[in-house]
Amino acid sequence: MALKKDSNSIDNEQDKSQNEDVSLVDLNNLENKTEIESQTLDVSKGNDNGFLDFGFNQSILNSLRNKGYKNPTPIQKAAIPELMLGRDLLGQAQTGTGKTAAFALPLIEKLADNKELNAKVLVMTPTRELATQVAESFKSYSSESSNFKTVAIYGGTDYRNQITALKRKVDVVVGTPGRIMDHIRQGTFKIKDINCLVLDEADEMLNMGFLEDIEWIVDQLPENKQMVLFSATMPSEIRNIAKKYLNNPAEILIKSVKKETQLISQKFIFVQRHHKLDALKRILEINNEGVIIFVRTKLLTTSIAEALENSGHTVAVLNGDIPQNQRENTVDRLKKGFIDILVATDVAARGLDVERIKLVVNYDFPFDKETYTHRIGRTGRAGRSGEAILFVNQREKHFLRNLENSTRTKIEEINIPSNKIINEKRMEKLIENVNESSLAKAENEENKALIIDVLDNLKEKHSMDDSNIAMAAINLVIGNKAFFVNEDDSWIHKQNNTDRNRSNRNGNNRMRNSNRRNNYQNDSFETYKFNFGKFDGVRVANIISSICNSTNINGRSIGKIQIFNDYSLVDLPRDLNNEVKNKLKKIKVRN
Ligand code: AMP
Repeated sequence: MALKKDSNSIDNEQDKSQNEDVSLVDLNNLENKTEIESQTLDVSKGNDNGFLDFGFNQSILNSLRNKGYKNPTPIQKAAIPELMLGRDLLGQAQTGTGKTAAFALPLIEKLADNKELNAKVLVMTPTRELATQVAESFKSYSSESSNFKTVAIYGGTDYRNQITALKRKVDVVVGTPGRIMDHIRQGTFKIKDINCLVLDEADEMLNMGFLEDIEWIVDQLPENKQMVLFSATMPSEIRNIAKKYLNNPAEILIKSVKKETQLISQKFIFVQRHHKLDALKRILEINNEGVIIFVRTKLLTTSIAEALENSGHTVAVLNGDIPQNQRENTVDRLKKGFIDILVATDVAARGLDVERIKLVVNYDFPFDKETYTHRIGRTGRAGRSGEAILFVNQREKHFLRNLENSTRTKIEEINIPSNKIINEKRMEKLIENVNESSLAKAENEENKALIIDVLDNLKEKHSMDDSNIAMAAINLVIGNKAFFVNEDDSWIHKQNNTDRNRSNRNGNNRMRNSNRRNNYQNDSFETYKFNFGKFDGVRVANIISSICNSTNINGRSIGKIQIFNDYSLVDLPRDLNNEVKNKLKKIKVRN
């Protein structure tokens, strides 16, 4: 249905004046939008009443209290009343703004007395990670509501459990397009009672080539339904979807990227490929608590993790090969501080929300602006500050300039820490540690007494004085290994002195991020031939979803796709390992 602006706009204008966080957007003219700043989430301030005005039932209010939410975020303030009225909604907001609760809470409220078997709400997400996360959010917001059921259905996992869950009473289904289609086709997901469809991270779904799948699914659903579309960006394709399917939507724009990334200090280092691991280890000397390192391939996640482990770090990997429950366990251990460093691929770390992440390392250059923004957004969570470091080699210099232009951010150059810097840092840490463990600060009374006994013993029986004892104790802390680094670091000085005149980074090869056919430099790709084509009824989206589901290749990193009658040519990243290549050999499209 075509988008109409009618008298509802007046209501919106009134809302807008009452609430500075809300802005009315003309779908046809989003470039001229008035953006509003998102506030940082703050659970510590305010009273418990922030959610009372929405008219939520007590069970929802109880679950919000359990979660420690006190005040709604700007997107929640703007979206919840509209959704409670049953309006369609178009929202431009990133993860981290509280958008999941913005649509989940009113939908849970609407389904409070639902006794029917079939699902009423369908939420579509681009990845299984986001599907799990959104489903978890629904579960926790409805944890106090009796008999409320949310089911997640996504690819890469067994159908059987999903089918069993779908047979029982279900209120909300959250899933990825491919698996949703499969269940609809097989008749295992009954959609006749769906009265609300949410498209979450719609731009990401488009990037992954899901447009036709989304359209197919929307066409299968009952015509009379509420539609909610959230997207971090508003390219013309999203505007077109909104115009086609949304009926006079409330339009909300939360300008959060800037605010969020403002808290993140963005840096880059210039480093040649063969020095990357050394550079990484040196960076981790300075900052090694709560770090995510982004790399392009699964193989690299493991080899880097191993290398870091050998250097004494506590590391885990997060990639598409790791089963879902293990991934959840890893994230949990990271949250609790049992792991300090995570080496991840983009797909596996999508939506990761861990407050203690202080540093994001872009070990491999991100494929596009959105990937970069997503990666660095893993730090600076919940209003904290964070740091992001991007590794740039000679070949990637011009990408850097384009990235700066498209994100409208200046990324500051820093040097790889030299021996001198690392040694100063080690010294500083040692002094800090000794000072921290000074007896005056020791809390354990039993230990205190023990230490005094040891001191007396050393003085009386071994005739040691205070300074001898102090030196021996520090010696013990340092251990036998050389305390200072003295490896040859002349390569660092050479890299740091390389001409990196920023104007040199202004090449013609712009990093394009919306058009798959023109994406990236050709030398990043290799062309693969697959023996299926038009005669098999194969479409671009089928190829992308099969590749993404069978390997850990990110939809965005797939280049040009050409479908011929009985074969297809697909450009894929050049650095794929053998394991991925073997999986590609076995790929099935549309069975
Ligand atoms: P989202 O943008 O939905 O991914 O949410 C980002 C983070 O904010 C999640 O960790 C949520 O649990 C948290 N969150 C959402 N709404 C609120 C709120 N009103 N108060 C505090 N935290 C919130």
